[in-house]
Amino acid sequence: MSNNLVTTAYIAASALFILSLSGLSQTETAKRGNWLGIIGMAIAFAATAFISQGYSVQASSIGLGVLVGVVAASRVAMTSMPEMVAFLNSFVGLAAVLVGFAEYLQPSSTLVGIEETIHRIEIYAGVFIGVVTFTGSMVAVGKLQGILPSRSVLLPARHGLTIAMLIAIAALGAPFLSATGTAGLVPLGIMTAISAVFGIVIVMAIGGADMAVVISLLNSYSGLASAAAGFMLNNDLLIITGALVGSSGAILSYIMCKGMNRSFLNVVLGGFGATSAGSSQGAGQAGDATATNPADVVDILEAANSVVIVPGYGMAVAQAQHAVAEITQILRRQGKQVQFGIHPVAGRMPGHMNVLLAEANVPYDIVLEMDEINDDFANTDVVLVIGANDTVNPSAQSDPTSPIAGMPVMQVWQADTVVVLKRSLSPGYAGVDNPLFYHDNTLMLFGDAKANVNGVLNQLSDVAATDAVAVAA
Ligand code: NDP
Repeated sequence: MSNNLVTTAYIAASALFILSLSGLSQTETAKRGNWLGIIGMAIAFAATAFISQGYSVQASSIGLGVLVGVVAASRVAMTSMPEMVAFLNSFVGLAAVLVGFAEYLQPSSTLVGIEETIHRIEIYAGVFIGVVTFTGSMVAVGKLQGILPSRSVLLPARHGLTIAMLIAIAALGAPFLSATGTAGLVPLGIMTAISAVFGIVIVMAIGGADMAVVISLLNSYSGLASAAAGFMLNNDLLIITGALVGSSGAILSYIMCKGMNRSFLNVVLGGFGATSAGSSQGAGQAGDATATNPADVVDILEAANSVVIVPGYGMAVAQAQHAVAEITQILRRQGKQVQFGIHPVAGRMPGHMNVLLAEANVPYDIVLEMDEINDDFANTDVVLVIGANDTVNPSAQSDPTSPIAGMPVMQVWQADTVVVLKRSLSPGYAGVDNPLFYHDNTLMLFGDAKANVNGVLNQLSDVAATDAVAVAA
């Protein structure tokens, strides 16, 4: 393949990646966006394989990657997707580290003078970003899987430690840049070790509801790591792709910070949710909450004119979205207004709830963002909170001492009646007790969300069928 053809292929792939991102920004066009990204990546693979030496190595590594990727992606449960994304981010970081070391030990081009210095800076920065992405993402996987505590874990004097690590990382750059031959391997290795600890310390310190921002921030870092690898390997496509991932991840992190009413710096400095550890088991107050059953919920829904459904992580775990969509259809056929309210960090990944609702064919025009629906709750008859917890916690607004104080939440308690579907009174991801469960207008429908939604659906279908027979007669 000639250089011109490769350049054309790279430009086509870059254009497809940009179109893919634009498609992914809307639920209606997300599938098309995904396909454009896949085609762009296939073109990028083909062009890169053609210009590289050793087709057999290329073909076998790409083949193995495709095989592992397809098997992993098809087997992973939707609820584990965030862990998988964080895991894949860590691979990008690790790849940048390995490329950095390989480029240092066996440079792909011979450079001298200022060009060599610039190349070494690229290697040093690339390895730093890569290793922070790698260890940070691995900690995020551990937190999301519950292997590590989801709350923030703060080391004593951690700010001093963090600053000392950053100074050491910067200081080691001097001997690395001035070293001759491969003598710079020692400072590069020590910097790698310190950066690995740095990545662990900063992500361990971020806890509770802030993890949502961290996941997208690490995604952005993985883009920067790819771009750094692109600079090291002198590969334009890798630089463009990395820049796209890096900037879109940064924009998403900014949007999430705004949605959570948090400053970027505040998130990165950590500490959110730090005081909640161990103090949040609300099960002892079970007697104060009012339990209900599917039959009563059906009566409440039958009497309502307006219903808002607020889904959360529990709906994803229970896979209740299809039954929820059927309930929505029945209620809408009865002439009731049914809407969905989505919190920006509901679930465990950006857009988690929108994906589930789209999968269940819920019409897009009744799925509203938090800002669009929050003012409507006061005029709503019934809110069904399905497996959501932190995102509907009133203490974020009413209790300045709450670990999640200041986080905007769905103001579901303003509706006439709130029905919360979850298995117990346990706190959500941020580990914070939820006073909503004890409000006078809140009813708790305890149990697995799918079983209970199905219970409501069956009885609602019976009532709807009886009504239809009565109308026909
Ligand atoms: P939460 O994590 O706050 O709560 C989910 C609730 O679902 C739990 O309290 C649990 O209660 C219930 N649940 C679990 N399984 C079931 C089931 N089978 N049936 C019924 N209920 C079930 O959910 P939210 O969506 O409200 O909030 C998301 C949280 O995750 C926020 O703190 C957010 O910051 C964080 N986060 C979000 C990310 C994102 O990108 N969106 C990424 C990382 C973290 P019980 O055990 O009693 O059933």
